[in-house]
Parts: sequence; structure tokens; C-alpha cells
Amino acid sequence: MSKRVAILGAGIMGASLALMLARRGLDVFLFDREDSPVGRASRWNEGKIHLGYLYAAAPTTSTAQAMIPGGLAFGRIVSDLIGGDVCGHATREDDIFLVHRHSVVDVEAIRARFDAVDALIRGHAEAGAYLADVSAARSRQLSRAELDEVSGSDDIVAGFEVPERSVDTQWVADRFGDALRAQEGLHLILGTTVRRVTRAECAGAGRWRVIGDPDLDVLFDFVVNALWEGRLEIDATAGLEPEHEWLHRYRLALFARTHAEVKARSALVCVGPFGDLKNYNGRDFYVSWYPTGLVAQGNGVTLESPVPLTAQQERRFVADVIAGLGPLLPATRRVLEAAESIDVRGGFVFASGSGSLADPGASLHRRDRFGVRRMGSYFSVDTGKYSTAPWLAARLAQEISNY
Ligand SMILES: Cc1cc2nc3c(=O)[nH]c(=O)nc-3n(C[C@H](O)[C@H](O)[C@H](O)COP(=O)(O)OP(=O)(O)OC[C@H]3O[C@@H](n4cnc5c(N)ncnc54)[C@H](O)[C@@H]3O)c2cc1C
Repeated sequence: MSKRVAILGAGIMGASLALMLARRGLDVFLFDREDSPVGRASRWNEGKIHLGYLYAAAPTTSTAQAMIPGGLAFGRIVSDLIGGDVCGHATREDDIFLVHRHSVVDVEAIRARFDAVDALIRGHAEAGAYLADVSAARSRQLSRAELDEVSGSDDIVAGFEVPERSVDTQWVADRFGDALRAQEGLHLILGTTVRRVTRAECAGAGRWRVIGDPDLDVLFDFVVNALWEGRLEIDATAGLEPEHEWLHRYRLALFARTHAEVKARSALVCVGPFGDLKNYNGRDFYVSWYPTGLVAQGNGVTLESPVPLTAQQERRFVADVIAGLGPLLPATRRVLEAAESIDVRGGFVFASGSGSLADPGASLHRRDRFGVRRMGSYFSVDTGKYSTAPWLAARLAQEISNY
């Protein structure tokens, strides 16, 4: 009889793993409290497929080294899982990284770090597999004229073009939904909130029981906890305690669709004050201004989701994003004023570490400590980033299949 696995959380991590294990012949149960899969952070994020440039404030290149394999493999793995070409739904130009005068890293240090990241990417065997060919990756500092074209603000002291792309996460989420529903050997258990995981009392009939609301009377050989923000709470019920400090941040961002095509270069302000404008296809945009969008944070095991904004608060929020990011990236105003729809959506960013992005010494700048913790046949996954999830899922699928 095939082994039975419970995967908790149908975000990009749980969805990728569920497809991989079902295709290897395991009997897979994928749980989510929402009524449709891939509906939370994995649907409503910027979709940057990280190669490590963003982590210029990390003390070493270890974060870039941790991000690169997942970023390079993302397009290949996801295209295979969903049976569609992700590259056709990625941004078409390299990103622009703008350095604010209050950046926690100076321009020389950023240039040196970007050179080091370029070299790491060029030396990687999968460099040709990224969303664009980065086997000759070289970031480039913008001329004053180029900088003025993107920003023109005295607060922006330098800019770099880096070979990083982003994907349209809503398109990817919809395709994952289709693939999950069509997959044989995969049971989608939606509208079910997981409360606890306990060891089964009678040996031989499966090792774990997942207690949910509504409940399901099934025993599992393996449990994979991929719940993202609620993960540590469920780990504790199974007997797994957190290893180090965690920080939850709830961020709001804007997902805009314009009436007609708007010409605007994808750009972000780093590495201190943080904001970005992402142009997926000329009409679909992501806009975020971190000082306004960060609406809650905490170090506890869980953090309640903030209550949704009223229509009036949403209008105020859009105006605040324009007021904050607009002077640094004038295209922000053009995009949002040309919008036929703007979704204000939020999600948790859940990471090990502490402190604030404005503090150069904060351990939050390091993002190299994600991955899987294992307790026998119970696995707890810290996805790290959207971009690292499918690669991590592939490694975990291999481990579970070999168990
Ligand atoms: C504004 C914003 C921008 C971001 N931008 C980027 C980016 O550009 N690039 C990048 O790589 N990453 C980005 N991220 C991070 C990225 O979104 C996450 O790392 C990733 O989506 C996490 O995937 P996941 O599958 O682990 O979690 P999720 O997608 O959150 O999936 C977890 C699932 O578990 C379900 N769930 C939770 N608790 C329970 C429960 N008790 N019972 C049942 N189901 C439950 C949820 O409904 C959810 O569907 C961003 C995040 C935010 C908020």
C-alpha cells in the first residue's frame, strides 16, 4: 500500500511538494483553511525570484549563496509542475536597484557585494536555467542620466541594473490550483483549519493524526508542516519547539491593473527605506512602500492577522504609498492614477532573526537559515522565500521518497 502523507498548508511550498509526492505514487492529503489553494502569501506577493542582490546588508554572501540555487531552478521546476511556461509570465527587463541616501549600506559596499553576487551566479551550473539567461551575469551602475530617468530625486544617490526577474504570482497561483485539482492520488482538503498534530497510539496503522476543524479520521505515515505563519504553533503540538528567535511582519502592498499600457521600469529602493514598483506586462503592477505597508510585527509564535481595511482606509493607504514612494519613483503616481483596479492585499513575512531593516546590525538582514527540520517522520518547513519554495520542495520530496 502506498505511504500516506499529510501536507499542512497549500501555499507554494505545500502545493509544490504535494504534486511532487503524488507523482511519485504517495497518497497525499493537502490541507488548507481557505476554500482555494495558493490563496495567501503565495498569491499576493511581488514574485521576485531572488538571486541574492536584495540582501546587500547581510554581513556575508551566505544569504545570496542560500538564495541562488532556488532562484535559478524556480522557472524549470514550476513550469514542470504546472505544465505551463513561467518564463512567459515573468518581467521582461532586469531590475533597477536604487540606493537611498539613508541606505544602511553605502554605494561602494553595494557595488562590491553586487560584483560578488554576479560571480556566484556566473559560477553556478544552473545559471542558464533562470527566467533569463544569467550565465554571464553582470550588474551595472547607472549613469546620472539613466538615474534621473528612473528617479530624479536628490534622495537617490546611485542606481544599479541587476539581472533579477519577477513572476506574476496570481497567474502562477491559478495554474497551481488547476494542477492540484487534476492530480491523481492527491486529496485537496480545503476549508479545514489544522489545530494539532498528535502521535497515533496504535503502531502499524500510520504514525500521525492531524486534528482539524472539521476533523478527518485518517492516520498518516508522514506529516509535513508548511503552514508559514502558523507553523510554530502546530510544531509545538507535535512536540517540536522553535530553535531560535522568529520575527513576523505583516505587510500590505498594492496590486494594480491599468486601463492601458503604462511605460514604467521595474525598480526598487533599497537597502534601508524600502519600496518598489514592479511592472509585469505593462498593465499589471505591484507597488509597495515599506514604511506605510508594515502594519504589524511581533516576535511571538503567532501574530493575529490585522483586520482588513475599510474602503476609506484603502483609499488613504493608496494616497500614502503615492506620497511616500512617488517622490523617489515618479512612475508610481502614473501607474496608480491610470489604474482601473487596485487590490490592497496583505501577508506575513515570517523569518528567523530580529530587529528592523533600518538597523545595519539587525540579524533580520540575514536570510540564510531557512529549510526543513525533521523529527522522525514529521517535517517542519521554513519556506524562506517564495522563490526558494519549489527547490526546497524538490529536496524534501526526494528525502521522503527515500525514507
Ligand atoms: C507583501 C509581500 C511581498 C513578498 N515578496 C516576495 C518576493 O518578491 N519574493 C519572494 O521570494 N518572497 C516574497 N514574499 C514572501 C513569500 O510570499 C513567502 O515566502 C511565501 O509565499 C510563503 O509560502 P508558503 O507556501 O510557505 O506559505 P503560504 O503561501 O502562506 O501558505 C501557507 C498556507 O497555509 C494555510 N494555513 C495557515 N494556517 C493554517 C491552519 N492552521 N490550518 C490550515 N491551513 C492553514 C494558509 O491559508 C496558506 O494557504 C513576500 C511576502 C509578502 C507578504
